[in-house]
Amino acid sequence: MSPAEIKDLYKVLGVSESSTKDVIDKAFRRLAIKHHPDKNKGNKRAEERFKEINEAHQILSDNEKRRQYDFMRKNPYGAMHGFDAEGFGAGPQGFKFNGEDFGNIFGGLGGLGDVFDFFNTSQRKSSRRGMSRPLRGEDVVISATIPFRMAAEGGKHAVTFSRTETCQSCSGTGAERGSKTTKCPRCEGTGTILVSQGAFGVSRPCPDCMGTGTRITHPCRECRGKGKVQTPRSITVKIPAGIKDGQKIRLAGEGEAGQNGGPNGDLFIQVNVEHDAVLRREGDIIHSSADIDLATAMRGGKVNVGTLQGTITLKIPPGTQSGTVFKIKGRGIRFTKGRVGDHYVTVKVRIPKNLNAEQQRLFESFAASLR
Ligand SMILES: [Zn+2]
Ligand SMILES: [Zn+2]
Repeated sequence: MSPAEIKDLYKVLGVSESSTKDVIDKAFRRLAIKHHPDKNKGNKRAEERFKEINEAHQILSDNEKRRQYDFMRKNPYGAMHGFDAEGFGAGPQGFKFNGEDFGNIFGGLGGLGDVFDFFNTSQRKSSRRGMSRPLRGEDVVISATIPFRMAAEGGKHAVTFSRTETCQSCSGTGAERGSKTTKCPRCEGTGTILVSQGAFGVSRPCPDCMGTGTRITHPCRECRGKGKVQTPRSITVKIPAGIKDGQKIRLAGEGEAGQNGGPNGDLFIQVNVEHDAVLRREGDIIHSSADIDLATAMRGGKVNVGTLQGTITLKIPPGTQSGTVFKIKGRGIRFTKGRVGDHYVTVKVRIPKNLNAEQQRLFESFAASLR
């Protein structure tokens, strides 16, 4: 299905794609009154228009039908894949969601078939071209869990995933090398068939040749005629310094193989960042905490702090309260783009427990001196 074959139902009702159901209902009522056959007796065009308005409203006013229609409009390519997946029973790795959606659109949704423009000579030509037009491959989305420090400092991470690749043995034709392909007798090589639906003829991809227009006499043994094979692939991904949990890395052309010489889809790697035992990230800032003893808190002193760039010695001024936050400038994330983040240390004062008698006595006199 090429996008050109999908009728713009929003345009039929004169509403925008983001219109609420309310707006759609109102537009429908207004148009339905205007073009009602009772008001336009004998006017064939008004009758056609009335049918069209009704059909558009039936789909756009039904949440589920509208969702599927929108999906199909945005993913004419995805729909093709779904067709492929359904017809050939592609492996579970292959076509994540399309098979199901496509099945619904063409199977369970009688009304939606009418959305496709009816056959005429010019469309017949364009749909024939459409079937062999190069199509971009699907995007593949995977996730990868990386250590905290790799996310902060950048690095390399190996990922393995499965994608469909063009069968090398038959170069994607699905026909055994050296064998001949013949014109599909059912669709006479057009790749589409005309199905009657009520009063209308509707164009559908030919089920005998899966829309290719050709019939394979000897299917390729390597791919069993699919033209594609599910292939595991391992690649090493460059992780940019400062990547956040949940961010995606895009690798152009690493997705599923295209059709009819079309380019590959892209690979998206959603990054999950592991927790670190010492360091914590909030926004672009690295946080950690450091324990100091009571004497250091009172008299001042030094404490060692582990940062992304190794251990540093932090100066503690006299009279430091527990919970004081010290900013260590430039010791945080060194972002790929050159920006340098900071590291914040929260100081916690260890209060001595289980004082011996001597310490108890000294502390009492110290406490008395504070009064
Ligand atoms: Zn093959
Ligand atoms: Zn056919």
